Amino acid sequence: INADTNNPTIFDKIISKEIPSSIVYEDENVLAFRDINPQAPVHVLVIPKFRDGLTELGKAEMRHGEILGQLLYVARIVAEKEGVLDGFRVVINNGVSACQSVYHLHLHVLGGRQLKWPPG
Ligand code: 5GP
Repeated sequence: INADTNNPTIFDKIISKEIPSSIVYEDENVLAFRDINPQAPVHVLVIPKFRDGLTELGKAEMRHGEILGQLLYVARIVAEKEGVLDGFRVVINNGVSACQSVYHLHLHVLGGRQLKWPPG
């Protein structure tokens, strides 16, 4: 696992459209696309177009604050578009022990079935 967020990940190629994805929402700062390995009937990833992870944000002097807020608004837009506004989960896996596999900040938006809590 490459935990160095200065390095590009596959999500950069998804942002640049070098790799196709099923896009649910896009604006100048944020992209939302369907997870390739969905864990629920609705499983969309919401990512900033910058690459810092949660771990790096402390070093970022809050320059990304507005975009971080936009991620939650987009999660809500996605939930509405996908018809799961009545119940959906937003998850960030951060770091190796949280099973992060792609080191580019992303919100998982999950819904469309009864979700269990706590997760494993
Ligand atoms: P993490 O485990 O880092 O929280 O989540 C990474 C997510 O990215 C996984 O759910 C995985 O299925 C998804 N993913 C990895 N590669 C691709 C890809 O090339 N396309 C799409 N659409 N999703 C991907």
